[in-house]
Formats: sequence, structure tokens, C-alpha cells
Amino acid sequence: MMRVFVVKFIAILAAMCCAAPLQAKNYELAVEFFPDKSILSGEALIWLKERRLDDSNGTFFLHGELRVTSIEMNGKAVDYSENVVFFDNEYSLVALKVDIDLSTVGEDVTGPLRIKYKGPFHASAVRSPSDYMRIDHDGVFLRSYGYSVWFPIFLGDGNFASTADFQRVALTTPEKFTAVFAGELMSESREKGKTTTVWRAVELALYAAQVTARPFEIRRTENVDFYGLTDFESRSGTSKINDYVQSLLGIYRIDFGEPRTSGKTIVAQMPAYGNIASGNMVGVSDDIWREFDGAAWYGRTLAHELVHDFVYVSTPEDDPFYAIAKEGFPDYFFLPAFAQLFGETYYTDYLDRIEAEYIDKVKTGKGPRGNDLPEQKPLTSISGSEIGVYKDVFLLNDRCRLFFDYMRRKMGPENFREFMKDVMSQRRLTRDDFYALLESSYPDIVDDARVWLETIDFPDKFRRNLE
Ligand SMILES: [Zn+2]
Repeated sequence: MMRVFVVKFIAILAAMCCAAPLQAKNYELAVEFFPDKSILSGEALIWLKERRLDDSNGTFFLHGELRVTSIEMNGKAVDYSENVVFFDNEYSLVALKVDIDLSTVGEDVTGPLRIKYKGPFHASAVRSPSDYMRIDHDGVFLRSYGYSVWFPIFLGDGNFASTADFQRVALTTPEKFTAVFAGELMSESREKGKTTTVWRAVELALYAAQVTARPFEIRRTENVDFYGLTDFESRSGTSKINDYVQSLLGIYRIDFGEPRTSGKTIVAQMPAYGNIASGNMVGVSDDIWREFDGAAWYGRTLAHELVHDFVYVSTPEDDPFYAIAKEGFPDYFFLPAFAQLFGETYYTDYLDRIEAEYIDKVKTGKGPRGNDLPEQKPLTSISGSEIGVYKDVFLLNDRCRLFFDYMRRKMGPENFREFMKDVMSQRRLTRDDFYALLESSYPDIVDDARVWLETIDFPDKFRRNLE
């Protein structure tokens, strides 16, 4: 027993010291989808994050039905072996594990790795009632890491904060389909019965590297492109969503000025269970699309995605304010617009609910669905790499929202709007800049702001409601 333990312990130590796992830094993907045959054929060029010279082995994963046909680096063939293994980050719960040996490629190990692969991609209902992850006659519905691994992924164990730059993603389908990725559409061509869309997305979370292809009709507007279906209800849904989006953008412009980046938001009509935002691509499922109602929960997701560009400030990643600026701002600042669109009562009821949930989460350590929460800590202690852990779960979506609401209550809605417009207009915003701005206009709120942001205290005077 003891010996087994020691051997295991040594194995764990060995794994800790030497397994600096390979990770992708840049991707170029060219993938063709054959919906009628439920297959794909892909080529991935992958530039790796720094790789230690003494570490010539690496592992990547693909959906379990796919197979690698060749791997090269520096024009030389790379040795590899494939095995189908259990894998938590795929809906099918299995994946193709590909172990590669780079010892034959020479000294220059910067890449790119050129990996060709192909095979079927059928739906899996293993972990979900959805038949979402599939390529078939309806189109292409793949979500990447965590769901359906349609290009090589080097992470085995669920580092969901991990991002990569997708410098070029070319997606080819039969002509009647149009494939949507994320980021920016670089080009679109239709020839020889095929449609190819080319995308570029930098710093995209690996789990957000989705691809969807349907017989879309595309409606382009200044800030948003809509990818909707062509049946009567879908088209009327596109108009309703467009009206809603334009009203929101109008309010955002008044509240914050012009958007900071030229990036467009993509809103795409998805099948059931497709209500997921992936970077700047927001999926809206068929039923919600056709009967769109901005005041319902899905309107909030859309409003959050759209406000990102208006509340963007440049905060250094090592600054304590980074997580608050990056995801705390967009999580709150669509709500004052909702107060205008749907009435102050909508806003009040929503914030009351957030407060009640926050108090409950702190008391029980559990989320509303009984899920375990990440560690409670001050908002300014959430690091950039922890945003994915707290976003939509704890602190950023409750305490941070309640903090901004507290300032709104203290200053009054109109003064708060002016103050935040000033904050958002800063070219660069650190925690100290934020306190300095507050100090110059509202010195009597500074001490409270520090308690909100630097501690986990929640004194009675912070509360919207006292029972
Ligand atoms: Zn966001």
C-alpha cells in the first residue's frame, strides 16, 4: 500500500516538474464541412506558446470520430500516435488523444505545426438532451472546447480561461449555407457551389471558438450583423431584434458616447440550446428569435454583449481594477438603459433580486442552482485569469452590480450617468484613477467605495432593502 502511494507520489512530482504542456498561441484554420455526409476535413496551422527545448512531446485532442492524416513541422513529418480516450471536455465524453513527438523536427521549434484531420461529427446526447453538436443536412453546429472539439486543442484538463489568436479561420460549406465564427468577417466568397467565409478573432477563449452554418440571410447594420433564417417568423424576428438593438445603441450613445472599437457584434439565429454568447457572436435560439422580447432574459444577454464596446476602457491587466472594468462594467451598464427602455420598476425589481441572491450566496456558499461557488474575495483581488471563474457566477455579476447601483442611488441617476460618462472617457483607467475621479466629484463616497471594492464586507448601509 505504502509503496503504491510512494510510486504514485513520484509520478505526480514528475508530472509537475516536467509536463509543461504545449499550448497554442496562434491558429490558422481551413475547414470544409460536408453536411450531407456529416463529415469535416480540416487543416490547422498552429504556432505554439513557448516550448522548452528539452520537451519534445505534446498532446492534443480532437472529437473522438475524427482522425489525423498528417502532422508536419518545418517541412518534416512529426511522429504521432492516436488513441480514443475518455474526455470530460467533449459532449460525447470521449476524444481522440494525439501524442506527438517533435524530436525529429530539428532545433527550430517555433512552428507552425501543420495538422491535417478529417472524419464524421455526429450529434451526441450523452450529457445533454440537445442534438446541438453536429454536422448534418441542417448545417454545422459545433462549439469547440468543452463541447465539440472540431480543431486540435492542447488543453486536456479544463483551463477555461485560456485564449488563443485565430489569425485566419476559413470555413467552407455548400453554397446554400453561410458559416459564422466569431471576431471579424474578413471575406466571403461563393464559387463552384461552395461558400467560404474567412474570419479573424484575437484573444478568443478556446471554448468560444464555435462554428455555426445554416441557410442564413444576412442583414448588416452599422454595429451589428444579423444572421437569421428566411421563414416569415424568423424574418419578423430579425426586424424585432434589430429594432430593440437600435434603441439600445441609441441610449448607449447618449450614456457613453461612441463605441470604442470598430468591432461588430454578430447576432445569429441558432437551434434549441444555442443561446450562448461566444466572444462577440451572440446566439439566439429559434423560439426566442421568432418571438423576440427584449425585456426577457435573453434581451439582457444581448444588451450585455452590445454594451461592451461602449464601456471599454484600457486598464492594465495587472491592475486591481482590471476584472471590474473588463466584465463588471458590461455586466452592470446595460441596466440603466433598461430602466429607460422598460421603466425604473424593471430596474428596481431586477436589482432587488440580485441583492437577495448575493446575500444568499454569501450565506450558503452555493449558487441558485446549488452549485459550489468560487472563493469569496474582494472585487479588486479578482485577477484577469479568474474572470472566467467569477463572470456570470459570483461577485462580478452581483456584488459589482450592487456597487454601481449603490453609487447610482447615492448620486442620483442623472449625476451618476454624467460621472460614469467621465469615467468611461478616460483613455486609461486604473484603480487609483477611479478613486481620484470619485474623490474630485464625490469625496464623501470614496470610503464606501473602498469597502465595496477592497473588502468582502457588506454592512447594512450598503443594502437596497433591509428586512
Ligand atoms: Zn461580457
